[in-house]
Amino acid sequence: MSAKIIDGKRIAADIRDELKAEVAALKQKGIVPGLGVILVGSDPASQSYVSAKEKACENIGIYSDDNRLPAETTQEELLALVERMNKDPKINGILVQLPLPKHIDESAILLAIDPDKDVDGFHPMNVGKMMVGEETFLPCTPHGVLQMLKRSGVETEGAHVVVVGRSNIVGKPVANMLLQKKDGANATVTLCHTRTKDLGYHTRQADIIIAASGWPNTVTADMVKEGAVVIDVGVNRVEDASRERGYRLVGDVDFDAVKEKASMITPVPGGVGPMTITMLLFNTVISAKRANGID
Ligand code: NAP
Repeated sequence: MSAKIIDGKRIAADIRDELKAEVAALKQKGIVPGLGVILVGSDPASQSYVSAKEKACENIGIYSDDNRLPAETTQEELLALVERMNKDPKINGILVQLPLPKHIDESAILLAIDPDKDVDGFHPMNVGKMMVGEETFLPCTPHGVLQMLKRSGVETEGAHVVVVGRSNIVGKPVANMLLQKKDGANATVTLCHTRTKDLGYHTRQADIIIAASGWPNTVTADMVKEGAVVIDVGVNRVEDASRERGYRLVGDVDFDAVKEKASMITPVPGGVGPMTITMLLFNTVISAKRANGID
């Protein structure tokens, strides 16, 4: 059996179409959602992420206030910019592209963002709200994973989900969101990491595997139960002399072998990746609605 491919590009495009319609309806009421974007320095990967975010905003009609600052920017200057955005009613979401240069204390910057504009969902206040199941901004990549499961008709209620990876941006939040007593969650969750004894023992029991380890081939076919759903969050570069750029992107799952055992699987690229920016736009639209008292 070859698995059905969960097409992240298509699901992301569907959500962006829905958001575009919502943004157009808000504009009729004189509301334009706004995202403040801050990039410090000239890291090429960060520059391309920020450009993609700005382009995505433009496509669906979100106003973006783009700030590209030199690497020498001081912590005080950055805090002052965050403070200006906190007070600016045209800005509903603030995105500080990470990583920041070493002389800036990342957590001080993230703490300075108004939790009501924290569309990345990284502020401890919002992390706490997510943990206790209160309404908040959900972090974008894990929320994207939940949307993919829901929109692909995968039942999470009562399912055993095994998450591989316990980072604060993917593993821990996705595990937490899936065990909430809510629709689209209600799963039994096992969270694995590098100190887990016999990872395969756990993954073989999973109805749904979420791989977020950051290493190719962390999940191989012998570690997957027949018919499991496999979500691959990983994005890794592996050398490939046949490609002009000298590398190709792969996930954390041995895709070719695992797709012969799984019932559904996400590809890399074209799986979880396109969902992340989409959920950032989603949070920005929610924030604009909340700021204007619209449910
Ligand atoms: P991370 O901070 O490096 O965390 C990796 C986690 O995986 C750690 O908790 C680590 O355990 C665990 N781990 C590593 N190797 C393992 C193994 N062999 N067995 C079990 N656990 C293992 O990475 P991240 O930021 O969560 O990102 C994970 C992957 O997702 C990366 O490839 C990243 O590029 C990708 N990603 C993609 C998106 C997207 O939009 N598609 C967004 C974010 C991240 P310890 O805690 O014990 O070290």
